[in-house]
Amino acid sequence: MIIQRVVLNSRPGKNGVPVAENFRLEQSTIADTVQAGQVRVKTLYLSVDPYMRCRMNEDTGSDYLQPWQLSEVADGGGIGVVEESKHDNLAKGDFVTSFTWPWQTVAILNGDLLQKLVPQLVNGRLSYFLGAAGITGLTALLGIREKGHVAAGANQTMVVSGAAGACGSLAGQIGRLEGCSRVVGIAGTDEKCSILVQEMGFDAAINYKKGDVARQLRELCPGGVDVYFDNVGGDISDTVISQMNQNSHIILCGQISQYNKDVPYPPPLPPDIEKIRKERNITRERFLVLNYMDKQEACVLQLCQWIQEGKLKVRETVVEGLANIGAAFQSMMNGGNIGKQIVSVSK
Ligand code: NAP
Repeated sequence: MIIQRVVLNSRPGKNGVPVAENFRLEQSTIADTVQAGQVRVKTLYLSVDPYMRCRMNEDTGSDYLQPWQLSEVADGGGIGVVEESKHDNLAKGDFVTSFTWPWQTVAILNGDLLQKLVPQLVNGRLSYFLGAAGITGLTALLGIREKGHVAAGANQTMVVSGAAGACGSLAGQIGRLEGCSRVVGIAGTDEKCSILVQEMGFDAAINYKKGDVARQLRELCPGGVDVYFDNVGGDISDTVISQMNQNSHIILCGQISQYNKDVPYPPPLPPDIEKIRKERNITRERFLVLNYMDKQEACVLQLCQWIQEGKLKVRETVVEGLANIGAAFQSMMNGGNIGKQIVSVSK
């Protein structure tokens, strides 16, 4: 059977900025027959995520990520529909997902590695299983629960960097749902800041590309910062950490501002900021959502419930066509639109 697929065309270099041309669309073939235990799936949605930048390097710099190989098909979070099944628990028409979905229109996959999806849980919005009801939502929720030390009624102020991104936009809302009394976001455009406040219930948002972030943060967080959900690292994080309270907590979710640099993960803080962190006993432990998959099922149900109740507002940008996945990845790495960036493959 003839299919379309996207392969890694070239590497951007450890310190390079990735571009759409690092990927290549090509025609390929898959077997015409499905073997026992396998299913043939039609791809519906693919996710583009910041961690993929590390997979573009020959050495990902982390033990849990494998590098993509040149001229081989890329993969990541994906959703599809079963077209033919020789697996006991999967039937034609089932919707399924995997973290290692190949970037191709149709694939033959091992049924044991797929999870069945229940579209009703997300009001039929299947793509949410790659975002708010998938690994992104889990990252926000588990990051807060495992590393945030949020306690209802404790009058805590949370700051979220990368606040308009997929994780950040959920993290601020979940911080509030879990009990923070004040939530302030940091994002890269006035429009994103306005959506965070008007639509997603943040108390305030700072455009880090305009004005003095430190001064605005002092004004907007008069009692200091108790919980910092850090998606970006770098200067923004140094500024936030210097305004954190004694015994406060950093949720070290990601460091996207450092991903095009050849630095270790997590990047060490500058000495003056590390001194503040130590003096104020601020925790900054590594957080990896994949370490908490035993809590996945219960947390997905919680996220779906909040979505259904309208307590968690979800934004996503859907780019049409497998041919555009490289451009979608490039756009996401450059800030993208608010919320989750998804590629729809069916059309
Ligand atoms: P995303 O949707 O692309 O959001 C990232 C946000 O960061 C964007 O809204 C972007 O917009 C902002 N940003 C990009 N470059 C920036 C820079 N140089 N300085 C400041 N802000 C910048 O990504 P995501 O899926 O939410 O992921 C967010 C972070 O979580 C990433 O670091 C990712 O690696 C991490 N993550 C961690 C885990 C885990 O298990 N720990 C799991 C999933 C994701 P603006 O610049 O316009 O604000």
